[in-house]
Amino acid sequence: MPRGARPRLEREVARLRQVALDAATAGLFVFPVRAGTKVPAFHGETRCRRRGVCAEGHQGWEQRATRDRVQIRRWWSNTTRWNVGVACGPSGLVVIDLDTSTEPIRAWGGATTGREVLDQLAARHGETLPDTYAVRTPTDGEHLYFRVPEGLQLRNTIGGHGHSLGPLIDTRAGGGFVVGAGSIRPEGAYQVAEHGQVAELPTWLTTLLTPPPPSSLATPARRLSTKRANAYIAAIQADELDKVEHSQAGTRQITLLGAARVLGQLVGGGELDADNAHAALLDAARVHIGVAGFTRVEAERTIARGMTFGMRAPRTIDRGTAGADNHVDEA
Ligand SMILES: [Zn+2]
Repeated sequence: MPRGARPRLEREVARLRQVALDAATAGLFVFPVRAGTKVPAFHGETRCRRRGVCAEGHQGWEQRATRDRVQIRRWWSNTTRWNVGVACGPSGLVVIDLDTSTEPIRAWGGATTGREVLDQLAARHGETLPDTYAVRTPTDGEHLYFRVPEGLQLRNTIGGHGHSLGPLIDTRAGGGFVVGAGSIRPEGAYQVAEHGQVAELPTWLTTLLTPPPPSSLATPARRLSTKRANAYIAAIQADELDKVEHSQAGTRQITLLGAARVLGQLVGGGELDADNAHAALLDAARVHIGVAGFTRVEAERTIARGMTFGMRAPRTIDRGTAGADNHVDEA
């Protein structure tokens, strides 16, 4: 190691430790993320050897994230420059993750940033965004931090899918994390863009991000307006894809099969496009491919099997006459 390198490394570890401690002081639950990346430092469930902290069952980053200063000092004590992960669920946060794109999005007035989409969304609802703590990411994205209103449990959403806010906007809540300000990637640093308090998630955003209750995923008793019917189908699809993405090693195939079957039913009923449904399922299953022997071929075969099965029991959503959008039936 060259002269002077060691003190520099130690200073950098000390700086990141302070970032983690400051986050904990602000009430956030933190955990180590691999140096220079946005990948959690802990092993994943599929690699768990049921030892140490996992002796009683696997403990992932969401379980291990903490505000405990002793634990934080222990993690950031050696010569590893862990980045600082912030677990959104335990921290009571929902973080709006605004991305950028080189491809203008026509449906959103040619927007190329999630910020533009969000501003348009706010305008459509006659609302504005409150000032809140925000972080700029190394790839020119933005993380807007909000407190989840008391008693609510929000999950992650993926831009353009299901009940997401729109393209280029992901949200991180339960089951999600963000890399905190002060962390470093080769592309640059995560930097505070807006200092100050974390605001509560405004009601209009809370409404948009609240998944439909499970009961509404059952067949609705009454006819739906076209708009409601489309939202309803999108919700079913998002729900199934979410299940696939978050399924555990032991149940992922059966979960994928079940999801393919549900989507296959909607394809059979003419509610979904077969190719799109197949692609969406494969996309959701992608996180599992290459993990514990699960192959792409196996994923594709499972999807094809489930969809074929589902298409034999077509499902249509009863909708009102065209133009009935102003007559909204609640599911
Ligand atoms: Zn484990």
